[in-house]
Amino acid sequence: MNSPDLPLPPGSDALPFENTFAGLPPAFYTALSPTPLRAPYLVAVSPAAAALVGLDPEQFSTLEFIETFTGNRLPAQAAPLAAVYSGHQFGVWAGQLGDGRAILLGELPAPTTAAPGRLELQLKGAGPTPYSRMGDGRAVLRSSIREFLCSEAMAGLGIPTTRALCVTGSDQRVMRETPETTAVVTRMAPSFIRFGSFEHWFYNDQPELLRALADHVLTHFYPDLLTAANPYAALLTEVTRRTAHLVAQWQAVGFMHGVLNTDNMSILGLTLDYGPFGFMEAFDAGHICNHTDQQGRYAYSMQPQIGHWNCFALGQAMLPLIGSVEATQDALAGYKHDYDSRMAALLQAKLGLVRQLPDDNLLVDVLFAILQAGHVDFTLFFRRLGNLQRADSAGDAPLRDLFIERAAFDAWAVQYRLRLQQEERSDAARQLAMHAVNPKYILRNYLAQTAIEKADASDFSEVARLLDILARPFDEQPEHEAYADLPPDWANHLEVSCSS
Ligand code: AMP
Ligand code: MG
Repeated sequence: MNSPDLPLPPGSDALPFENTFAGLPPAFYTALSPTPLRAPYLVAVSPAAAALVGLDPEQFSTLEFIETFTGNRLPAQAAPLAAVYSGHQFGVWAGQLGDGRAILLGELPAPTTAAPGRLELQLKGAGPTPYSRMGDGRAVLRSSIREFLCSEAMAGLGIPTTRALCVTGSDQRVMRETPETTAVVTRMAPSFIRFGSFEHWFYNDQPELLRALADHVLTHFYPDLLTAANPYAALLTEVTRRTAHLVAQWQAVGFMHGVLNTDNMSILGLTLDYGPFGFMEAFDAGHICNHTDQQGRYAYSMQPQIGHWNCFALGQAMLPLIGSVEATQDALAGYKHDYDSRMAALLQAKLGLVRQLPDDNLLVDVLFAILQAGHVDFTLFFRRLGNLQRADSAGDAPLRDLFIERAAFDAWAVQYRLRLQQEERSDAARQLAMHAVNPKYILRNYLAQTAIEKADASDFSEVARLLDILARPFDEQPEHEAYADLPPDWANHLEVSCSS
């Protein structure tokens, strides 16, 4: 049990927190309060996330809110806690981990969201917990801004994700490679339960607690599965399906998570725990976004099979509940088909094709080969492809110029145009459909870095601007054209690691 030196002043009793997770047996968590940060200030708030829980962004300029979402005041109805979980890290069993710096306040009503229509609010960076191990329980401003922006950018892209309500900062420093200022990001999700939460009880040989966890997840988040012949097998089947679809959506926009350990895998199929993530720029299937991942276990091209590996780890942990190896294997077996079919559908849409024809695979394979050979910017390519005219190559230059080897593009474009002739859609209709799935704006590392550098100098305007742009990534936004550009040369040297 860990408590702050001074009792926290009372927070708002207007926030109607409920505390469903706290109703699990005590072994699931440690009840504790956040540790206050000195003189916190607001860095950013997401109006879209705030709306989900019925909050007005104006409220975030009040001291009460800033203190509440830094952990300096406790809302009257919150029952704060840190949850325990375990996990496989880089393929190796890591034993107990847990919320080492995240504190759950409880959940607020979110009537427009999926079952159960409530969102948990978690303060990440709110001080040490019994699960902090060697860590200080804090998060630095840099990583908090990255998590905040990427959570909301993923939501803008329509990809399942935990949300980010706000970031508060403090001049209080912690040591990383150098001293850095601290921040707290308030995350929201129906649940933060991870594959590793299940593994925890399996590896600790606690079948009753394993069952209590599965029943909690089924009751609150998958109520439709409760009537299945084997609800636990149905749960594994559904989580496997969601994971396959999630990874396909990542691949389609070039998102790389960076640390796909089982403790970072959401039982709801959400993108969870933003650390050294990245978006593909110059295409390289082997790209490793996490500087710490020297073997490339979590490289772009590895993500689909790692998603499956992680589902196997979950299946292993759920085996005692499901009751048979065969039923567990059956539940996991859908992954490949779910991934392949979702990915094929996403690529078909990215290419602006309505029909699915047998030779489309070849068109895709050749495309990825030339993108790879030319290290072509992934986002710009697909966005500009939407502007291609079926009958006339005169306007190809912006697309064609992305390739150093223009001939490679020209040869592919001939095949693509032939393929488009088998479609009925007009150029204008195809462009509209393609622009709705191929984003113009993604969170490029250098954009995040620019916003972070300004924030380090107490100017938070660039964080707000990026948030606004990335909330509508498919819109043209001509006034923000520069944000869709290729990264500048200095961005080639940016490195992100696990340090956060
Ligand atoms: P991550 O790699 O960020 O997913 O973290 C893995 C584990 O380390 C989780 O249990 C985190 O809660 C914990 N952790 C990461 N950073 C810190 C920190 N600064 N203080 C305490 N625990 C941390
Ligand atoms: Mg984590």
